[in-house]
Amino acid sequence: MMQKHELISLVDKMCKELLIIIDEENGASIQQVSNYLTESAQIILNVKEDDIDNVGYAESLFHNAYKEIAKKSLSSYDNTNKSIKKLARMHEETLSKCIDEHIDLPSITSKFNDIQLQMNNEVNKANSVITKLTLQVKALEEKTNLDALTKVFNRRALSSYLNDACSNEKSSYNFHVLVLDIDDFKLINDTYGHVAGDKVLIFIANILRKTLREGDKIFRYGGEEFVIILNRVNDLQCKNTSNRLLAIIRENKLIYKGETLKVTMSIGATKFVQGDTPDALIARADSALYRAKRNGKNQLRTEVKDGV
Ligand code: GH3
Ligand code: MG
Ligand code: MG
Repeated sequence: MMQKHELISLVDKMCKELLIIIDEENGASIQQVSNYLTESAQIILNVKEDDIDNVGYAESLFHNAYKEIAKKSLSSYDNTNKSIKKLARMHEETLSKCIDEHIDLPSITSKFNDIQLQMNNEVNKANSVITKLTLQVKALEEKTNLDALTKVFNRRALSSYLNDACSNEKSSYNFHVLVLDIDDFKLINDTYGHVAGDKVLIFIANILRKTLREGDKIFRYGGEEFVIILNRVNDLQCKNTSNRLLAIIRENKLIYKGETLKVTMSIGATKFVQGDTPDALIARADSALYRAKRNGKNQLRTEVKDGV
């Protein structure tokens, strides 16, 4: 006959196993998405009108929609939590009903199986809600041309901006393209976690916004890469601005959960020359960036077209 303390330790073991299953399969992504959405909502709520220079429309869309999405996501997470708490109470009641000498192991096991099934159902339900919401976030992002995390323009916006800029006939029109890439970003993620990595991206975007001029454009190009268009500057101004950005990023520290994160970036820069296609421009800036990385990172390298 099983003793009560043995049963308690069995339950304890089962609970731990359940938590591991939830954690492995679903928990992490729920936590991540809800953090992400809460943060996004916060960013969007803090958007100042002059931060977005062409879309009052985008602002109002984000403002309302994100709030709503984050709220829904959190309440779905909350519901799952409540259900799991309820199930945990059922565990306790089942236990307290057991009298030391008469434990009906088969019926208890079947109850545990029920409970486990219900828990999985709850987690799956929450996950499917969150998947739907994540798709909505993506759709919104496309509609507004803004990157949801950093609220700078997204890659789609860069394509259309460069297409327009490259086909501009005015010979006086000139601009520089910078490709910026965070140094050793994978290490930041690996050391402090993905949420810290996301904070770094927001931190960088804020520095870029604060440092650049009204007419400059900032885009999130990929994971930890940004593209900046500096309008109507000469080579020296481009170099000075880039180096100023690198210095500000190098000197500013981000505190995350009591840890001081130091971030540096590398920049590849090039000047638009009549006849450049968007791809050619980016490729040239990219090859400068590659040299900046190879040369030790945390620096600017430039590339000119055919010696121009
Ligand atoms: P390097 O100095 O050569 O640029 O090295 P790196 O580690 O920065 O470059 P690598 O390309 O090896 O790694 C980029 C990492 O960026 C890997 C990927 O997981 C991470 N990443 C991409 N997008 C995101 C994001 O949105 N959030 C977070 N937290 N990480 C991201
Ligand atoms: Mg990169
Ligand atoms: Mg990098």
